[in-house]
Amino acid sequence: MLAYIHVPFCRTKCSYCAFHSVPLGRDASAATSPMVRDYVDTLLMEIATWRDRLGNRRIQTVFWGGGTPSLLPPRIVGVVHERLAKHFSLDANAEITLEANPESLTKTDRAAGYLAAGVNRLSIGVQALDDVTLRLLRRPHRAKESLHAAFVAREAGFANIGLDFMWGLPGQGVRQWLQTLKDAVRMAPDHISTYGLTLEPGTPMERDCEEGRIELPREREQQTMFMEGAAYLEEQGYMQYEISNFARMGFQCRHNIGYWEGEEYLGLGPSATSTIGDLRWTNPSVQEAWDEKTRQGRLGEDAEHLGSTTRVLELLMLRLRMAKGLPVRLYRELTGQDFLKTHHRFVQALHQNGLIRIRNGFLRLTRKGMLVSNAILSNLFECIPPSLVANSAGARVRLAN
Ligand code: SF4
Repeated sequence: MLAYIHVPFCRTKCSYCAFHSVPLGRDASAATSPMVRDYVDTLLMEIATWRDRLGNRRIQTVFWGGGTPSLLPPRIVGVVHERLAKHFSLDANAEITLEANPESLTKTDRAAGYLAAGVNRLSIGVQALDDVTLRLLRRPHRAKESLHAAFVAREAGFANIGLDFMWGLPGQGVRQWLQTLKDAVRMAPDHISTYGLTLEPGTPMERDCEEGRIELPREREQQTMFMEGAAYLEEQGYMQYEISNFARMGFQCRHNIGYWEGEEYLGLGPSATSTIGDLRWTNPSVQEAWDEKTRQGRLGEDAEHLGSTTRVLELLMLRLRMAKGLPVRLYRELTGQDFLKTHHRFVQALHQNGLIRIRNGFLRLTRKGMLVSNAILSNLFECIPPSLVANSAGARVRLAN
């Protein structure tokens, strides 16, 4: 099982962000915040609750996401790991990732504290390496703080460091994006994530775009950013193992791979989603509601059963994101159908247009295919009538109360 821990606090709110997070303010200390203290109390209670209900499961990876997990002092992170190890079988070699923002990773002691607390992978939210763009994104850090955070992490002894970037940003051109990647490579990370900007409804950035105050790069330009950026990173030894993720050999994120490959995952914290067996549920986003449900033993009470149709669609959606592709054997096991025969015409059209490759039982998107993956998937979904999906389902679990 994978464990995801959602930390719902940030310094400030970024202009494009639709994640659940509460801005603590620039100067507030998470170490003394009553809201953070209450969050940690409930988190520890939630871990014990799930142990009682799920039994002693093995945990292969832990991922602290948010929000800004690096606002939590290392001591608290260590306490949570101890609690996980007490209630579950936390693998001795578990990959334990913590998302960190540059403004909260300014001192080597702090990074060393996370290492001592059991974190062995840091994912640093750099996003851009020029201050004009960072201000536009309303990030609370500046470019030189990112360089410093990566340096501090290495100096503290982290052997697995990822940097996250965004492309397709207002005012960004191909040349600027490639320069960002060059600067990123100079920082010598082990992993690089590059996310295309999505305009989320209700965010200040969406409003600014709609009202014409800022403008996104044209589609053609965005396509070039994706294609040339990916080619450059591969030239530099960062293998593209998923649409948005690149890693040096052996540094792919095990947690995310597990998620894309359909492993069970337990989501802890407000707004975290879990999938165990054929059940999926999401915790309340509001801290008080999450706390109340945890105390009353009512988490997961509204879990949905994942039908076979959902499983097939997710198999396609998640596996086709990965460079390795979809093992057609899995499709057959879930549907009783041969993917290549059932979707013969569609597959042929994709192949002729250079959008897919089929090899050794795997169907994978080419880079050109990745560029239009959403369109490919929505066309594919339309080709799958519910009657094609055999009545198969994953192992059922009962959530004990
Ligand atoms: S730091 Fe991340 S989670 Fe927090 S507001 Fe910015 S994008 Fe959202």
